[in-house]
Parts: sequence; structure tokens; C-alpha cells
Amino acid sequence: MTKDGKKIALVTGGTRGIGRGIAEKLADEGYFVIVNFANSETAAKELMAEFKSKGQSGSAYKCDVSQETEVAEMFSRIEQEYGTVDVLVANAGITRDTLVMRMKAEAWHDVIETNLSSLFHLTKAVLRNMMKNRFGRIIAISSIVGLMGNAGQANYAASKAGIIGYIKSIAKEVASRGITANVIAPGFIATDMTALLPDELKEMSIKHIPNGRAGTPEDIANVVSFLANVESNYIQGQVIAVDGGMSLS
Ligand code: NDP
Repeated sequence: MTKDGKKIALVTGGTRGIGRGIAEKLADEGYFVIVNFANSETAAKELMAEFKSKGQSGSAYKCDVSQETEVAEMFSRIEQEYGTVDVLVANAGITRDTLVMRMKAEAWHDVIETNLSSLFHLTKAVLRNMMKNRFGRIIAISSIVGLMGNAGQANYAASKAGIIGYIKSIAKEVASRGITANVIAPGFIATDMTALLPDELKEMSIKHIPNGRAGTPEDIANVVSFLANVESNYIQGQVIAVDGGMSLS
């Protein structure tokens, strides 16, 4: 909470794609929104200017979330400068797609460290104060690939499935302290990540979505907003697929 009583939300990978949609939604709702980025400094500056022009407040921190010491340093700066984090949205993620037969150990480790170990570092850093405050919301962005598997994405699927097991465990550890921990599993969302895919694959993916369209960052942001709400305190350790029905088939 900031000194002037605003809830603080931290969105990792918050300057682009899904993370940006989440950051904008939470800022619209009056949160003090801290976005983290690894490389996109220009986008971070643009987002801060956007917040300012709308009379919203927030801040941006450069930090590689796969690095425990960088994450710890980011949290101590946030706490000194603004206050303790009320809502953590662990969104940052990468893909290094290839078949297992061709996958180098580096592609395995990069994806596991960035997508999964980051969640361990972030929750370690945030939980102590959430427990003291008797309030917290931890929302991790997984993927339906973590539920279903996907050829060519074994490293990514393992990281996203790992997020689910980890969050369910955290939920059991902290539920009695006013904290909830939940997972959102997006389907096919139009961002830079999916723009990389060949057109044929994109068209095929969209054909498999009962809702008949790709998702948008706003589709995910709406569910984050719902889970972050004080009144969502009885939703615990759940995985919510936000995929237009893609995982039904
Ligand atoms: P993008 O590729 O558009 O954005 C990825 C974001 O993650 C960027 O903001 C990037 O920051 C950040 N990031 C990557 N590595 C690090 C790191 N080491 N430290 C800090 N930030 C980092 O992806 P999307 O917006 O599409 O995806 C967001 C999340 O949603 C990911 O976890 C992804 O796996 C998940 N998801 C996406 C789906 C989709 O269809 N798009 C479907 C299912 C899940 P920077 O630019 O500064 O490097």
C-alpha cells in the first residue's frame, strides 16, 4: 500500500503484450502499478507517460526476473520508495520452441528459469509482507499448454505446468493469512509472442477456438482484475483457463 492508501500491484513483463493490458487495466482501477521489464525500456517510458496523461500513478523497474538477487533488489527498492506490494502478477515469460530431439540444454534452462524459477524468487520476496499485512493476491500467468502439452514446446509446457503445481502449494501454505494464489491459463492471445508463429499455424490455432477469435490482452486483464479484487477472497489455488474454449477440444 502507498502512503496515500493506494494498493500496489506489480506486473512482471508489464510493458508489452498481456502484461501491458493487465497494467493498464489495474491503473484504470486506481492501483499504483509497478511494471517490471527486462529489455523494453522505451515501452516502459511510454507506459509511464500514458499513466501520467491519464492522472494515474506507477513506476517501472528493470529487472531480470530469472535472477534471484535482481528480484530481491527490486523489492527492496519498491518497499523503500513506495510501500509493500499487495498484488503480484507474475506474467513475464518466454518461449524457445523446438522438438525435444533438437532442444539444447540452454533452451530448456532459459525457459524454466524465466518462466518458473522467477515465480519462486518473486513469491519469496513478496510473501513475508503479505503475511504481515494479512492480505495479498498472487496471480500467475501460465498457459493452456501447461495443461495440454504441445509438440515443440516441451520446455515451455513444463514451465507452465510447474507454475500450476507451485501455486497450488503456495495457496495451501498461505490461505489462512488473507492471501490468495491463483493461476490464469491463457489460450491463444494476439501479442508479439504469437506474432512470431507462421501464418498457417496462427490460422489453424484460431480454427480450434470455439469463440472464433484470438484472445486479447484485455481478455486476460479482466480476469486478473477479478482475482485481484478484495471480494475474490474465496477463490484459492485455482486454474482459470481464459481461452475462448480452446482447451475444450
Ligand atoms: P510477449 O512476448 O509479448 O511479452 C513477454 C514479456 O515478458 C515482455 O514484457 C518481456 O519484457 C517480459 N520478460 C521476458 N523475459 C523476462 C525476464 N527475464 N525478466 C523480466 N521480464 C521478462 O508475451 P505475451 O504478452 O504474449 O505473454 C505474457 C505471458 O503470457 C507469458 O508468460 C506467456 O507465456 C503467457 N501466455 C501467452 C500466450 C499468448 O498466446 N500470447 C498464451 C498463454 C500464455 P521485455 O520486453 O522487457 O524483455
